[in-house]
Amino acid sequence: MTELYPHLLRPLDLGFTQLKNRVLMGSMHTGLEEAKDGFERSAVFYGERARGDVGLIVTGGIAPNGAGRTRPDALILSKSDQTAKHRLITDAVHAEGGKIAMQILHAGRYGYHPEIVAPSEVQAPISPIAPHALTESEIEQTIEDFVHCAVLAREAGYDGVEIMGSEGYLINEFLVPRTNRRDDDWGGDFENRMRFPREIVRRTRARTGDDFILIFRLSMIDLVEDGTNWEEVVTLAKAVADDGVTIINTGIGWHEARVPTIAYMVPRASWTWVTARLKDEVSVPLITSNRINTPEVAEEVLARGDADIVSLARPFLADPEFVSKAAAGRADEINTCIACNQACLDFVFSGRTASCLVNPRACHETEFAIGPAAMPKNIAVIGAGPAGLSFAVTAAERGHRVTLFESADEIGGQLDLARRIPGKREFLETIRYFKRQLQRHQVEVRLGVRVSEADLVGQGFDHIIVAAGVRPRDIGIKEDGGIEIEDGAEVLSYLDVLLERKPVGEKVAIIGAGGIGFDVAVFLTHQNLDKDEFLDEWGIDRTYTGRGGMVRPPKPEALAHDVTLMQRKTSKLGAGLAKTTGWVHRMTLKRAGINMLAGVKYRRITPEGVFITREGKDELIDADTVVICAGQESENSLAAALEKAGEKVHLIGGADVARELDAQRAIDQGVRLAVEL
Ligand code: NAP
Ligand code: SF4
Repeated sequence: MTELYPHLLRPLDLGFTQLKNRVLMGSMHTGLEEAKDGFERSAVFYGERARGDVGLIVTGGIAPNGAGRTRPDALILSKSDQTAKHRLITDAVHAEGGKIAMQILHAGRYGYHPEIVAPSEVQAPISPIAPHALTESEIEQTIEDFVHCAVLAREAGYDGVEIMGSEGYLINEFLVPRTNRRDDDWGGDFENRMRFPREIVRRTRARTGDDFILIFRLSMIDLVEDGTNWEEVVTLAKAVADDGVTIINTGIGWHEARVPTIAYMVPRASWTWVTARLKDEVSVPLITSNRINTPEVAEEVLARGDADIVSLARPFLADPEFVSKAAAGRADEINTCIACNQACLDFVFSGRTASCLVNPRACHETEFAIGPAAMPKNIAVIGAGPAGLSFAVTAAERGHRVTLFESADEIGGQLDLARRIPGKREFLETIRYFKRQLQRHQVEVRLGVRVSEADLVGQGFDHIIVAAGVRPRDIGIKEDGGIEIEDGAEVLSYLDVLLERKPVGEKVAIIGAGGIGFDVAVFLTHQNLDKDEFLDEWGIDRTYTGRGGMVRPPKPEALAHDVTLMQRKTSKLGAGLAKTTGWVHRMTLKRAGINMLAGVKYRRITPEGVFITREGKDELIDADTVVICAGQESENSLAAALEKAGEKVHLIGGADVARELDAQRAIDQGVRLAVEL
């Protein structure tokens, strides 16, 4: 039998200790850090990941002092009496045979509170707060706080620490002229600018001993103007290796960079080439990261020699058993992270505890378990979109007999729509995952069947789950205050364009600029990109000759369609899109020259286009085709009839609430209902 993932699953000998494989669960702030019972919940969360055989876990960032907090309630480790709580985490991981390092993160000018500090008083473009410039004695104290924090981490049972030196946080701010304007011993030439991280590393090694894992996360490409240049990256890497780091991790891009680095439109493993450049320069093991989400891609990266270890963070929210499934030859059962950021980063940025779109249990492990049902029941599910699928596989996993009816010839529903949009191929993985789970748990799947009331009533189903989804809102109904549509006008729904692939003319007007309006605009004007095309499109200097690794992006090529995107609201188009990905869509469409109109009043649609009024003036938006993306309505008529006939009916997903529906809410609702029945 051929060896599975030989590079990925090979142990790594660090001299004083061994990692069981080359997979690092990268640091993620999940919000559990600040949650009620956060340590208890974190212990279960990390314990499950350790049980899944990941080589080394790195925690979310912990501040070494008050000024270094990311937000007012962020965790600090600065006193001995704080270590006992951390013991819950380290004991849970060790009990599962795992290893865990604590990340020390000083947020610098990215902190969101009034006490933030930085090398110089230069405000971050993404922060409303100006930092206080550290005095020399405050710098000295900050270094000591880092070291003390590492010593306490060791006392708390951690196997090591990761010193966060990238992403534009404090250490990174010392390194570059963009944020370090000092003229004392901590600023000026690179030798001085890197004194701050070097002192932290040197003193941490001296005070924590030789048998403690010390990872330094080094920003290898800042993606901002006046960032580090390649020569400085190499110099710093060699210096911190000499100063005693065990492993160097890769950071890609500052938080203020206007380049997507981890979202779904970034092709897989797009950034490992940066780590690979450092490979022959230093002898300590290197970790590479960003958009590595399958064992195949991870193996390929390691086999190519780009790095010694791969870091995956979000994939461990999606599936705690990523490594153990890969090792057991069950990679097709991995619930793959689709890089949507919807329930992880977007939740955390809005003050919620993280979860995962494809795995609602992530960070909520103590709230519910998926155990065997007390009494197996006979359950019908109508609709194989995200809500119906998540319900069906979870209920079947619990031992219920599940029959899943779907009117289309394929499963997926809205997931099947999303995967057609350029940059959203990852949704195919979720469909693959559900397909495999349906098989494993022996769900009876009836495709191409549009069930009626008569097919279900009195058929012996204990529960009927209506997850029939949504239908596009009909905006042409005049008596409902709709838009007048003249004969001869070419009007299509987004389903016609995305699913049926009906041809559209050269000039296209899109009515409705929500998530789907944006998706249709991207669909009509963009294509899936490979790695090199992606790096070129975003102006990445692959020769890395200047500071920050950026060049001017090329002018977009002539578009296949001339597109106008419209909404009635006067707010900026796309303002309601997701926090961490919406700006990418807005930037992409703006750069492509899509005409975006807000504050539009639609008058009528004719063969010439759409007559509108905007800012008090009447206009014709010249269009060969008009695509309606005006939201949806619930498909729930069957539910009422079934209920009337005395069946036990449950509505989930878009069939329940169409407004602002997304796959995250649908999957969460499906899983939670399946756990209850
Ligand atoms: P949506 O986000 O609710 O947007 C509907 C759009 O239609 C709005 O721009 C709205 O703007 C307009 N509209 C509503 N009623 C109208 C009417 N009667 N006549 C004309 N225009 C009307 O819905 P969606 O775009 O279909 O997306 C559905 C869900 O899928 C969203 O909740 C979203 O979470 C999710 N999704 C997200 C993404 C993403 O984030 N990239 C992508 C796809 C889907 P005005 O009322 O201002 O005209
Ligand atoms: Fe990955 Fe999306 Fe889950 Fe975040 S929410 S872990 S990006 S699948």
